[in-house]
Amino acid sequence: MNYMITNFILNNFKLKMKIKRLKLLGACILFTGIIFTNTQCQKSKGSNLNLSFLHDTKELPRINNTKHNSQQITDFKWPDGKKMAISLTFDDARLTQIDKGIPLLDKYDVKATFYVSPKPMMERLEGWKQAQRNGHDIGNHTLSHPCTGNFAFSRNNALEDRTLKSLKTEIDSANVLIKEAFGVLPVSFAYPCGNTFVGRGINTKSYVPLIASQFETGRKWYDEGPNDPSFCDLSQLTGLELDGKSFDEILKLIESAKKNGQWLVLVGHEMNDEEGQLTSLLSTIEAICQYATDPANGIWIDNIHNIASFIKEQRGEK
Ligand SMILES: [Zn+2]
Repeated sequence: MNYMITNFILNNFKLKMKIKRLKLLGACILFTGIIFTNTQCQKSKGSNLNLSFLHDTKELPRINNTKHNSQQITDFKWPDGKKMAISLTFDDARLTQIDKGIPLLDKYDVKATFYVSPKPMMERLEGWKQAQRNGHDIGNHTLSHPCTGNFAFSRNNALEDRTLKSLKTEIDSANVLIKEAFGVLPVSFAYPCGNTFVGRGINTKSYVPLIASQFETGRKWYDEGPNDPSFCDLSQLTGLELDGKSFDEILKLIESAKKNGQWLVLVGHEMNDEEGQLTSLLSTIEAICQYATDPANGIWIDNIHNIASFIKEQRGEK
């Protein structure tokens, strides 16, 4: 009896072990199956993605991934073997320009462009007339200086609320005043605050075409890099900040522009010997004048009109 019971227990144990082994084997097969299916699935997905990417790149123009400004891209020839051009430009007809800045530029015979606001211009009219006779370029900067209303000073004269028609009227009015004062119509324009639009949302319009139809050049502000003379749109010349900069900071821009044969347009406001808001330091301006007029440095420094005229001639434009 005991033997039978023992035998039954033993057989039962063997049967349980067999079932366990079978379950384990089943689990292994299932697990391997899942891994295999998953790998195939991923391979197939990857292959589809790659193919669609290849397909897309065929439709796209070739993109040069070289970091911008790191490579010479222009074969433009500056005059007299110069390697680049610089224009110093100043906005708003601020009194420090006429009182301190222009005498300094004249000392080095450096010609700059001044985008004047008529009201402050009238405060030093004789000085501005003399500046023009000395070869400085007098440009239009609108009558009322409209900018985006995000600037509190322009909230009641915001470009978001303006139309192309109203902007044309005030640009024309500024032209009339400049013509009366200097005897010639300006050929250079600077977008107040560097903003080039009117309206908002789907009704936004660019006023670049308006400037292109009336002026030789339009200059922006707060841009990232200089102008490529063989390619740049003269109606949207880039302008880099001069205010608050040391000569060492400007020298880096000059060296980079020289490497690429570009036209560096610098933008300033107050011209003073003390640091302040929107102030280009006289020490920086003087160092630029000294560096740029040294023939060893291969730089053509001149006003916007003179350089733009040369570019147009080289490009065969009227
Ligand atoms: Zn301005």
